[in-house]
Amino acid sequence: TPAQPYPSSPDRSVQPPSSSSPSNSTSPTGADPKQEGFFQSVIGSNPYFSAGFGLMAVGAGLTILRQGTMAGASLLRRQMLVTLEIPSKDKSYLWFLHWMSSQSRSAAMTGSSTIKAGEAVKTASTTGRPGLLNRWSDRLANRINKRSQFLAVQTEFKQHDNGSVSTRFNLVPGNGKHLICYRGAWIQVERTRDAKMMDLSTGAPWETVTLTTLSSDRHVFSELLQEAQKMALMNQEGKTVIYTSWGAEWRPFGQPRKRRLLQSVILADGIGERVVRDVKEFVKNEKWYDDRGIPYRRGYLLYGPPGSGKTSFIQALAGELEYNICILNLSERGLTNDRLNHLLTNLPERSIMLLEDIDAAFAKREKTQEGFQSMVTFSGLLNALDGVASSEGRIIFMTTNHVESLDPALIRPGRVDLREYVGDATPSQIEKMFKRFYDDHEELAQRFVKSLEGHKVSTAALQGHFVHFKDRPEEACENVGYLFIKDRVD
Ligand code: ADP
Repeated sequence: TPAQPYPSSPDRSVQPPSSSSPSNSTSPTGADPKQEGFFQSVIGSNPYFSAGFGLMAVGAGLTILRQGTMAGASLLRRQMLVTLEIPSKDKSYLWFLHWMSSQSRSAAMTGSSTIKAGEAVKTASTTGRPGLLNRWSDRLANRINKRSQFLAVQTEFKQHDNGSVSTRFNLVPGNGKHLICYRGAWIQVERTRDAKMMDLSTGAPWETVTLTTLSSDRHVFSELLQEAQKMALMNQEGKTVIYTSWGAEWRPFGQPRKRRLLQSVILADGIGERVVRDVKEFVKNEKWYDDRGIPYRRGYLLYGPPGSGKTSFIQALAGELEYNICILNLSERGLTNDRLNHLLTNLPERSIMLLEDIDAAFAKREKTQEGFQSMVTFSGLLNALDGVASSEGRIIFMTTNHVESLDPALIRPGRVDLREYVGDATPSQIEKMFKRFYDDHEELAQRFVKSLEGHKVSTAALQGHFVHFKDRPEEACENVGYLFIKDRVD
């Protein structure tokens, strides 16, 4: 019988005979061809194995596809989208939120919640997109506008001089994602709050607004920010911004106020003029100070009884110089020497620093042994006053009702360079005020002045009297006694 070179196999086609002799035949992998043939026959003939390999191949394929898609999407995103981040620390942050709130106000008038679709429609053509795309964009904007968004409320609270209060609620984008259309460009606005991070200077949580748009529309970012800035500045034009301290930084307090005219504050002869002249002289003499190595700062003290117009005069002066005012209360809770120093060296541009009732902070300190809310020490205040002023110079006004209780160290030249007594109404002030309220009533004015001879009356009380007898000068004269009913008892 001829020798059988191969073991008998039910299917020869699976293992075809090699053309070489059986003694030196090896598989390409070097494995024993007998074993290989065995595995292949088992795998090939086992439906479970085949299915498993099939599934593995599909799974691997899908994974590669998914990773590929993700890589592609991220590449596309990098290539096609552009992102702008505005942290809450940046000035533009509040500008942007106000801008958004104004957008929502105009949108609210048309019954939508955040987005100004009209703007998108009106200006879409500026992007040079085809008309169909514009129409689509317009329709989409309208649809999105009708849906409610995540909104947050920002309340504006304003107390008028007559005591009435008006409140306005601005709807600004809340935390989350929003879609707006600005000048035909779609922008995703994402406002996020980081619960773990905090702005150390204010103690407020760290927030960020991230704007994302198509790369081709990147120019809208600068346009949008410029518009927001312009809107913020327009709101301040012709007005005085009052800043108050917020942690270690200055923040605008309420809305900017209409400038008060200097003529509306009637001080005893010469006082107002002297102060205005001095401040104006200081403001334009930076070089003079520089050349002589003198710190470019100037301190003023206005002292006298309450209600004599000290604060009003400083406000009017700020308006006259087109400056803003930073008001600081030294008794403020949490104010420390370091913070005070930081605040005084980092005043907003073109602003007057006002320290009101300077005596109160330290008088209180002496009376109570413990539990001071303020941590500012007297020497801390002196250091802050002597600290380096910004290149713009620093104008500090201090007011007090009790000059006699002030430490002489506080009001020595260099800290206070000009001091003025602003007292109760003089006959000339009474006459001027009467005439301001009741035009051309010369004779009545004289009568009024005469009836107040020998009496102490504050200009604030006079103002209250004239407001009470508005348009009734005769009655104001006849009822002069009213002035003393609620007048000061000191
Ligand atoms: P002070 O700071 O001296 O306590 P304010 O400036 O706060 O006084 O004045 C209180 C109110 O009285 C303000 O509404 C202000 O308009 C009015 N008033 C006080 N003094 C004058 C003045 N000399 N001329 C005009 N208004 C005055």
